[in-house]
Amino acid sequence: MKKTIVANWKMNLSVKESLSLAKKVNKMSSQNNIIICPDFLSLVYIKNKLKKINFKLGAQNCAPDSFGSYTGEVCAKNLKDIGAEQVIIGHSERRNIFKEDSLMINKKIQEALKNKLQVILCLGENENEKKAKRTKQVVKKQLQDALKNISNRDISQITIAYEPIWAIGSGKTPQAEEVSLLSKYIKDYIVNKYSKKIKVLYGGSVNLSNYSLFLDQTNIDGLLIGGASLKYSEFSKICR
Ligand code: PEP
Repeated sequence: MKKTIVANWKMNLSVKESLSLAKKVNKMSSQNNIIICPDFLSLVYIKNKLKKINFKLGAQNCAPDSFGSYTGEVCAKNLKDIGAEQVIIGHSERRNIFKEDSLMINKKIQEALKNKLQVILCLGENENEKKAKRTKQVVKKQLQDALKNISNRDISQITIAYEPIWAIGSGKTPQAEEVSLLSKYIKDYIVNKYSKKIKVLYGGSVNLSNYSLFLDQTNIDGLLIGGASLKYSEFSKICR
């Protein structure tokens, strides 16, 4: 079964470095679905560098509106026009640092879908919520809010990335079995609401020594990788 591996390069590379990494990635062999998400500017330069059919480009964000006086924003239509096929929405860094609330996340999803971008919707609990054993409740509320007014037809364009906030960039990870159960919980929620199956990825401190634990779980359809996606030797081994 093919897995989906998303590389979130965040704001870690220069345009030159992104281009050089993209060229290496293009030579990599993998039967899995690989989605490379560079920053907006690098996206423009990389669009012709990923030539393999299963390697796609994704953006890390998009505006919640179609066009207009929104200084500094990049709309979904322009991302689609320059070659992005996917967009990450609701990453915890956007929620926490840039104060994106559930209404904004829902608007961004609607914009992305309207412009035929597939969505990677990130969600997950923080450390206190985990300690309080509220993970399922938190995830359910995030799903309800983000997917408000999303149609039955559009839900198939969405992949969920379960990313516990405490695991992102921390070196800490949940047990793969716990993630598998939560992925099942998310899948069941979607099946009950839409009668559709969707993919659920795991993200948070994935590296060469732990990735297979997650990929071995049948309920986990792939990975969203931050730090390790910047290291070609590590990333290429994971993708293979
Ligand atoms: C992320 O930022 O979504 C992420 C999973 O990062 P890392 O792999 O570095 O924890």
